Amino acid sequence: MSLPSPIGLLAELTHRCPLGCPYCSNPIELVRSSGELDTKTWGRVMQEAADLGIMHLHLSGGEPLIRNDLAEIVNAANVAGLYTNLITSAIGLTPQRLTELKSVGLDHVQISIQGVEPLRADTVAHFKGALKTKRDAAKHVVDEGLALTINAVIHRDNIRDLQQIITLARDWGAGRLEVAHVQYHGWALANRASLMPSREEFEVAARIVEDARAKLAGDLVIDHVIPDYYGERPKACMGGWGRQVIVITPDGRALPCHAAASLPGMTFANVKDKSLNEIWESDPAFQKFRGTEWMPKPCKGCERAEVDWGGCRCQAFALAGDAATTDPVCALSPNHAKVAAAIAKEAATEKAAYRFRRIGG
Ligand code: SF4
Ligand code: SF4
Repeated sequence: MSLPSPIGLLAELTHRCPLGCPYCSNPIELVRSSGELDTKTWGRVMQEAADLGIMHLHLSGGEPLIRNDLAEIVNAANVAGLYTNLITSAIGLTPQRLTELKSVGLDHVQISIQGVEPLRADTVAHFKGALKTKRDAAKHVVDEGLALTINAVIHRDNIRDLQQIITLARDWGAGRLEVAHVQYHGWALANRASLMPSREEFEVAARIVEDARAKLAGDLVIDHVIPDYYGERPKACMGGWGRQVIVITPDGRALPCHAAASLPGMTFANVKDKSLNEIWESDPAFQKFRGTEWMPKPCKGCERAEVDWGGCRCQAFALAGDAATTDPVCALSPNHAKVAAAIAKEAATEKAAYRFRRIGG
């Protein structure tokens, strides 16, 4: 059977960002601007992505607006026929910049928010005036007639504001709201004890989302990315390793998942040296955990093996020290009990000061 095409390309154009969110999924060792791919290489990658059958391009970072050549990259993607989604903090998303990006084919904007109360939201963002800037930018997006999604990363400091977050998304004119509980990779893992809500808080939040979905059907779509730690079974991380998505880091490494660079002993091909097609078809890193062959018990033979694909390899490494084991957030994992105990301890711990994300650690 031939290998299906990936669906999406996540292009991390830069790790630079004016914000310092403590839950950032970027790695602790951030790529510096001198190591970033140039415009021409990104343009080639866009065409290779389209040739490979990819349809959706997510322009991410860091903050992609920091790249002065963003419009050139969007243009290259548009010429290649990709649907373009800008994932942004909105810092720097002026009306002029937005008009320029729309003129070269930008299709969709996703703005992340840190909360609804300005002081607390700006504290988490580590940027004064962030929430106001985001609100203004959301208005520009709607005025330009572009589709808008609000992304709210949920954690201990804002989980009680979920109802107001839903109201904010409607008031700002979003068609979609992503309620995304923190996933503990990169900086989020380093701040886990300060970010983890309690199970009770999570359960209240889940009910709020369910109620809002019923009330706002046809008006606002609400995606709910639940925290793996409080589930019984893991999610299919990125739709399964090497199955649906390719992530390109700012310096050109092609990863099956945005946290995969944290796995020791693995090397990843670079788009400077190989085509996307070559990487997708035959790069050893993409093949390592693709499918079910690699699976140990209890994944091997499990009825969900081709549903969640054994969960997240990076989480397995972070929690159990072994990327090739069953994701410990799965209740069937032999490592589940000690993980659950650690979670309960952290959720009950007095909140420590955040370690804000910044280049240089
Ligand atoms: S999570 Fe925050 S710090 Fe990380 S890239 Fe997004 S806006 Fe920047
Ligand atoms: S044992 Fe493996 S395949 Fe089965 S539910 Fe758990 S993580 Fe998924």
